[in-house]
Amino acid sequence: MTILIGIYVLILGLVLGSFYNVVALRVPAGESVIHPPSRCPHCGTRLTGTDMVPVFSYLWSRGRCRHCQAPVSVWYPIGEALTGLMFLWMYLEYGFTAQAITGMVLVSLSVIITVADIYYMKIPNRVLLFFLPVLLVLVLLFPVTSLWSHLAGGIGAGVILLIAAIASKGGMGMGDIKLFALYGWVLGFPNMLMALFIACLLGLVTGLILRCTGRSGKKQPIPFGPFLAVGTLIAYVYGPVIISGYLSLIV
Ligand SMILES: [Zn+2]
Repeated sequence: MTILIGIYVLILGLVLGSFYNVVALRVPAGESVIHPPSRCPHCGTRLTGTDMVPVFSYLWSRGRCRHCQAPVSVWYPIGEALTGLMFLWMYLEYGFTAQAITGMVLVSLSVIITVADIYYMKIPNRVLLFFLPVLLVLVLLFPVTSLWSHLAGGIGAGVILLIAAIASKGGMGMGDIKLFALYGWVLGFPNMLMALFIACLLGLVTGLILRCTGRSGKKQPIPFGPFLAVGTLIAYVYGPVIISGYLSLIV
């Protein structure tokens, strides 16, 4: 039974991941997510059902458009596969619970803003405004810690990044601040600090790697949203265990 539900959750994630790619690429450009139907950006041929099976269409057509042979971005199947696998991850961690649902909503938000932030260097307000009420209600109904902790997490996360934005004179966007305030609300305090720590560490390492390999200039900004997303997902699942283990060491 668990395996069957697991497969279902994985497929659900793959299909939604495919939709999230569309949302992330169209919403910042001010386009509708429903109309027009997806087309090959190169030859304009409308994609049919067989072109839109997550991951598998890409593999069958060897990463090329079936009509004009133009290469299709490898990020599409990667986004789909990651969404599917992270949905499965939440189900395996939490089973059929509210915490798994909150986790999958968190994964959904994270995938969309990661693709949008990498592609457009911005975190779309419309996406945040869509997820804000969903996550507000989910945490109010099924808090992981006390509501005060969730509230402190949200406010604290926003304030810390706001100070960082002022100190770095624009190195951090308003989108990052709003996103992390929402993440902080879900994670609560002090777990949101762990998310920020992981995000900064990953950002630092990635920045160094990009610079050393000459793939980004000194002044070229790196989007921070994806790092906040990864840090938040890791902290959501493992943060409480790590923090309680750490506290038991020092107390
Ligand atoms: Zn084409």
